[in-house]
Amino acid sequence: MAQKFQNYIAGVWADSSSGQTFENRNPANWDEILGLFPLSTIEDVDRAAIAAREAFKSWKLIPAPARGEICRKAGEIMVSRKEEIAAIMTREMGKPLSETRGDVQEGIDTAFYCASEGRRMFGYNTPSELQNKMNLSFRIPIGVCGLITPWNFPMAIPTWNIFPGLVAGNTFVFKPAEDTPHTANVLVEILIEAGLPKGVLNIVHGAGEVVGAAITEHSLIRAVSFTGSTKTGQIVAQTCGKLTKHVCLEMGGKNAQIVMPDADMELALNGVLWGAFGTTGQRCTATSRLILHQDIHDKFIEMLLERVQKLKIGNGSNEGIEVGPIINKGQRDNIERYVALGKKEGAVCITGGERAEDGDLKNGWFYKPTIFINVLPKMTIANEEIFGPVLSVIKCTSLENAIEITNGVIYGLSSSIYTKDINAAFLAVRDIEAGITYINAPTIGAEAHMPFGGVKATGNGHREGGWAVFDFYTEWKSVYIDYSGHLQRAQIDI
Ligand code: ADP
Repeated sequence: MAQKFQNYIAGVWADSSSGQTFENRNPANWDEILGLFPLSTIEDVDRAAIAAREAFKSWKLIPAPARGEICRKAGEIMVSRKEEIAAIMTREMGKPLSETRGDVQEGIDTAFYCASEGRRMFGYNTPSELQNKMNLSFRIPIGVCGLITPWNFPMAIPTWNIFPGLVAGNTFVFKPAEDTPHTANVLVEILIEAGLPKGVLNIVHGAGEVVGAAITEHSLIRAVSFTGSTKTGQIVAQTCGKLTKHVCLEMGGKNAQIVMPDADMELALNGVLWGAFGTTGQRCTATSRLILHQDIHDKFIEMLLERVQKLKIGNGSNEGIEVGPIINKGQRDNIERYVALGKKEGAVCITGGERAEDGDLKNGWFYKPTIFINVLPKMTIANEEIFGPVLSVIKCTSLENAIEITNGVIYGLSSSIYTKDINAAFLAVRDIEAGITYINAPTIGAEAHMPFGGVKATGNGHREGGWAVFDFYTEWKSVYIDYSGHLQRAQIDI
């Protein structure tokens, strides 16, 4: 009998008001049920929002450095439970243990980073335009925040939001992805153990269209942070726009790695293997386009092909595995649809392009690392986010041509260029339209203290990570102190 898990609302673990549950299954072996989680209702979200609103009254009064201390304790608990959490995450999400350990580490880094930011919640002071008057501005919390997260970074993405949001004085209603509910519950357990007061963090499991939509629409929830598909993000943004809520969106990417003829080929090769097939290509920053200069195209493809075919596909719980399963059937169907479309549009699939089904692999959602060559920039597989181990190779004729191709998609999250020419590197930094550009490194590898996010259709201008995340999780309060003893009128008594 599968273990039953619960929501955490107002400081109490409880079933959904529907009494119903959904299954959490292992993507590497779909026969394995990892647990039953509450299929929650609008009423559950309502109770969570009311609890979070109530808790906000006292949480916002706790000094930010003390709020930061709770994050520090949470980080310490995560350090002690790192191996256990990584194992849980690999079982429900599929990526290899080396990667899930990295995901937990990102949560730990974020905890310690945010803990210290509690002492640096800077505002700024400016001179007043009038005599005997002082101007100050402070960051203040927003109130109850809704958090809707995807399954590909089940610990890192929630912590990128929850830790800074808490340090800033907000409270949360958190809805994790249906595919990774267990890791999310572990994060809640950790924060309870670290001393978070009741009601400050509430978790409500369930379907996006019910729980996610209810969070977006709830009148007590004043800000929503969403990471996921562009299609869903646009729905969330429309609702938040109508209700005048703050909204932070992290959505799709179609990230390119450029390789110039002077690049260190071995380095560029290692970069694209990790960027395109790490996390089985299921990262918003994954390399999904490889833009090769025509002078090295054929040689590079030859080297790449040899290495890709050696990647070890399998259950991520086994050490040494490099490519885990696809998260679920729907996502694998989607990948298969794009591969068929690529072939139909005239691109040439030189490896992969089919399920991996040898032995035990047939019980999971495995798909072989896939490479298309002869891809033209206008093809669908060169424009739409596939979110799987599918790499589209495009030939370029010059640096300018490479940058033009890189910029020719609707997204602008991550990007990379391999070159030893310092001028080419700086031109790329200046001209690539993306929130992140790597020089001689793959498109993946964000660090907790750097701003994370993209331009164009990837987001809506906000950033997670680094100091920039506090711009989303705080409002400004401007304070004017007039100690002149008489009426002074701004702009008039100058
Ligand atoms: P993916 O394709 O990666 O699953 P989604 O955008 O569908 O991406 O899901 C990201 C998160 O958004 C998940 O937690 C999901 O449950 C949630 N979600 C899905 N539909 C909605 C919706 N209509 N409103 C709010 N959240 C939603």
